[in-house]
Amino acid sequence: MTQRTLEAIIAPRAPHYVGDGFRVHNFIPSTQPLSMRRMSPFILLDYNAPFYFPPSDQLRGVGVHPHRGFETVTIAYKGRVAHRDSSGGGGIIGEGDVQWMTAASGILHKEYHEENFSKTGGLFQMVQLWVNLPARYKMSAPKYQAIAQHQINGYQLPNNGGTVAVIAGQYADVQGAATTFTPMHLYNAHLKAGTVLPLSFPSHYNTALLVVAGNIRINGSENVPTNHFALLRNDGEDFSVTANDDALVLVLSGEPIDEPIAAQGPFVMNTPEELAQARRDFAMGKFGQLDD
Ligand code: MN
Repeated sequence: MTQRTLEAIIAPRAPHYVGDGFRVHNFIPSTQPLSMRRMSPFILLDYNAPFYFPPSDQLRGVGVHPHRGFETVTIAYKGRVAHRDSSGGGGIIGEGDVQWMTAASGILHKEYHEENFSKTGGLFQMVQLWVNLPARYKMSAPKYQAIAQHQINGYQLPNNGGTVAVIAGQYADVQGAATTFTPMHLYNAHLKAGTVLPLSFPSHYNTALLVVAGNIRINGSENVPTNHFALLRNDGEDFSVTANDDALVLVLSGEPIDEPIAAQGPFVMNTPEELAQARRDFAMGKFGQLDD
């Protein structure tokens, strides 16, 4: 086993709004070197760092829009989001919950702050991650996995060092809650100050961390502050995360999908022709029906 080393620490870029409900820092694919290809199968990561939304009678969010060719994964840290899609999926996710939506051949959905959260206002913190699908699954049937916090198994670290909540893949003997189309690992690591979390993934898996709370160091030496992203090289398997103070770290590692990427807005396909087909199918109403 060889050590995996740090490639880059990436600061959050200026935030932008997705609709009027998500104030996000984009890491993948708009910050160097986090291109869709470099981070495959993870092709987009938007991070709504903790942000206070004041009370509102009007629901903030994003209205009906399509997706095709990939999966959207929403990970809630603070606040509540309500979602509904044209395949019948839907629900409310709050702190610790994950919504794993497979758009595949095409879906319409809408994403809003949950009604009571909107009325009272409050701190909001979320990640939205897009996971690519290989060509053979891009036109498969849509599906939806609503994963509540209590359904996500945790690995208890020794000496009350914290918990690794395994969203997908596995950590030690703990299996992830979500099913995936290609091999990947996705964890929320809740670490007490001083805890050292050992991690090991095949060297060709693209691997990164988002520091959601607290601050950490990688391989005992390199500091990564809150709201920063750390990219690991593909030069080894093993590395460690040390919590400098109580920390929450989103860990991503996945086998790259070695196929061409043709991406435009809400569609991620393999070729420009498939993108054109997606636009035509959407215009013709083939993504189903969903009222705003
Ligand atoms: Mn969406």
